Amino acid sequence: MDPITALLDDLLDEIRPMDDGAPAAYIPELAAADPDRLAFAVVGPRGRVRVVGDGEHEFTIQSISKPFVLALALEECGRERVLECVGVEPSGEPFNAISLAHDTGRPANPMVNAGAIATTALVGEPESDIDERTARIVSKLSAFAGRSLWVDEAVYASESATGDRNRALGHLLRSYGVMTGSVEAAVETYFRQCSLLVTVRDLAVMAGTLAFGGVNPVTGVRVVSTRVARDVLSIMSSCGMYDYSGEWLLRVGLPAKSGVSGGLLAVAPSQFGVAAFSPRLDAHGNSVRAIAAVETVSDRFDMHLLESH
Ligand code: GLN
Repeated sequence: MDPITALLDDLLDEIRPMDDGAPAAYIPELAAADPDRLAFAVVGPRGRVRVVGDGEHEFTIQSISKPFVLALALEECGRERVLECVGVEPSGEPFNAISLAHDTGRPANPMVNAGAIATTALVGEPESDIDERTARIVSKLSAFAGRSLWVDEAVYASESATGDRNRALGHLLRSYGVMTGSVEAAVETYFRQCSLLVTVRDLAVMAGTLAFGGVNPVTGVRVVSTRVARDVLSIMSSCGMYDYSGEWLLRVGLPAKSGVSGGLLAVAPSQFGVAAFSPRLDAHGNSVRAIAAVETVSDRFDMHLLESH
């Protein structure tokens, strides 16, 4: 084991005993997650990926899909069109809040469900069906990860079967004219993007692609422009951790995004992409041990972006 991997391995041993929180319980597939799984990965500028813990374990990406679908929408429609449909202000509310600006119906930001559904609705042509929209999203997220990603059909079926709140958000968005196309196409596509299977390595590489200005550090492929990567990181900085985003910025100081299956990725621009996975969640829906892992790494390696050096 090289010295950095050994260091990361020790770090996981330190946080492994933390047993606060519990896996998400709103669908059986997530409720059945092994709460003890723990994994961490980091990718540097030359594309070397280091993985420790349960690195091979696959889980659904859930809300961590949101910044990458935002990147696709920014690329396809441009920043001004995206900003017509979704704001960029922290909501201070939980991820599934029924919260739209009362005059325009615009969701607070693309990292909460309402904003993510509005963002997903921007992908593709107005008449595109669920399969076409999903294919564009899967292809882009696969380029971010540097390998072909697949939808977990059982999770998708459960997301769709229990997704009335997200469906209601879709209808509200359409009632305001924020979304003009089919609510069903947008919401089902959103459920499919949430159900993509990833490993902690995939998440680290996806974070790395944002860290290195839109170029995947492993494949060398440009996935999005430097400007789009910068825009996505800006929004992750203020909104990526739901109603914990302010405290996260204070303590860790890195743009990040979490998801309800227990994944978390964070970006140190031009330096690293990192990711952690542990299914036990806190009251905000963020992974307790993934937060601890990234916070510790940020501290030990002086990665807080607002620290002067
Ligand atoms: N599928 C989940 C939902 O839409 C994703 C939310 C999340 O990861 N916070 O409710």
